[in-house]
Order: sequence, then C-alpha cells, then structure tokens
Amino acid sequence: MANETKEPIAMIAIDGPAASGKSTVGRLLAEKLNYLYLDTGSMYRAVTWAALQEEIDIEDETAVTQLAHNIEIEIFPVRDGEADGRHYTVHVAGQDITWQLRTPAVDANVSQVSSYLGVRQEMVARQRAFGERGAVVMVGRDIGTVVMPDAPLKLYITASAEERARRRTRDRQAQGHIANYDDILADVLRRDQIDSNREHSPLRPATDAVLIDSTAQPPAAIVDTILKMIRETVTSNQ
Ligand code: C5P
Repeated sequence: MANETKEPIAMIAIDGPAASGKSTVGRLLAEKLNYLYLDTGSMYRAVTWAALQEEIDIEDETAVTQLAHNIEIEIFPVRDGEADGRHYTVHVAGQDITWQLRTPAVDANVSQVSSYLGVRQEMVARQRAFGERGAVVMVGRDIGTVVMPDAPLKLYITASAEERARRRTRDRQAQGHIANYDDILADVLRRDQIDSNREHSPLRPATDAVLIDSTAQPPAAIVDTILKMIRETVTSNQ
C-alpha cells in the first residue's frame, strides 16, 4: 500500500484509553503499510517495571524521574524463535522483560508513573526521535496532542469501558493468567480517570483526530476503513 502512493503519510498517530483496540489496530496497520510500529505504553510500563524491581517508592517523583532518565529501553520487532504471542520485544538493560510489562503490578502503578512531568518529558523525547525515522505508526495517549502534533493522520480509538474490560480479561486468560472481569473493569476505570485528569498531557483526542468507536467493530474492519482514508488523503494531495 505504501508503495502505491506518491507521497505516503510519514506518521500515523493513534491514541485512546486502555484496551480500546488501538494497539491491535496500530500493529495491523503498520504491518499492512510496512511501517515501523511503536507502542509508547510499553515505555511507561518499562519504567514502572524497573521502579518496582528496584523497590523505588512509586510516590517518590524525583526517584522515579531519575530512573526514567537513566533507563536503557530497547524495543525490537519479533524475531524468529520468539513465537510466544508477543507483538514486539522489550529489553531493559539487555534483559527481555516483554511479558513482565503486562503484570497486574505494572497495570496498578503505570498511570502514577506516567503522570510525572519529568518521566513524560524523557519518554516524549525518545518517542520523537523514533518518529523522525518516518513511516511510523505510533500508539499511546498523547501522540496526536503532544508527541507528534504535526502528524498528518491522527486517530482516536475508543470503546465502552465494559467492552474494554471484557477484551483485557480474555487476553489475560489466553495468556494463562487468572483474570477477574470485575477487577479488570475497576482497573480500566481507575486508569481512565488518572490518564484523563492528570495535569500533564491528559488523555484526550487532538482537535483534528478522526474518532473511531471500536465497541462493535473488529480490528480488521477498522484497519480497512483507515487504509481507505489514507488512500483518499494521498489521492487528494496529488
Ligand atoms: O497503552 P497501555 O495500556 O500499555 O499504557 C499504559 C499506561 O501508560 C497508560 O495507562 C498511561 O498511564 C500511560 N501512557 C501514557 N502516555 C502514552 C502511553 C501510555 O501516559 N503515550
């Protein structure tokens, strides 16, 4: 698809709340377009994991911010022999922590960690450097509003909280974990509340974002709609 266009869109920004389907849509879209894919939530999760690992008090903004500045995070596409359901691989200081990022302990603390200005500034700088490579689909909470406000295509994907909790429960169970729908719904609502009301870069759609409700639409259908949108944008620019 990217090759069919004369002026392909260099950056696609996708935002939305937890478990809205944005990561699946972003990943499929990147595959179809042969673009790089960056799930920025994994970076905030990596900082959170490392803080828990080092037994840093999550309420200690200075210590968590210092950690965010010093942490070595690398994100790789899936390689041969890593067919365990992962969509990318995350290393912190050379250690593969891809699956540790999805634990309830990280879920419970990541919104606090990502509310700190210094943490955000450091992660945003790293994300922008990644975005400068071009041909990138970047997924998060503030990509269209803060990280890449000039992105030519911005999408904001939502779904009802109940549907998002159902999806997350299914994902957890498929990964072999015990998952309780009510607990997960409570966590989704709690994270929505923190992410939407925090002082720095709160979760909200960019004014020029296309809003997509994924409650009753499978990811593949959403991807088809977006690809159509891209084709129309590129054609109208020629
Ligand atoms: O998308 P995911 O659920 O993995 O994100 C985990 C958390 O990281 C979010 O709840 C949010 O607090 C934070 N986040 C953020 N900005 C981003 C991506 C994620 O604040 N761009």
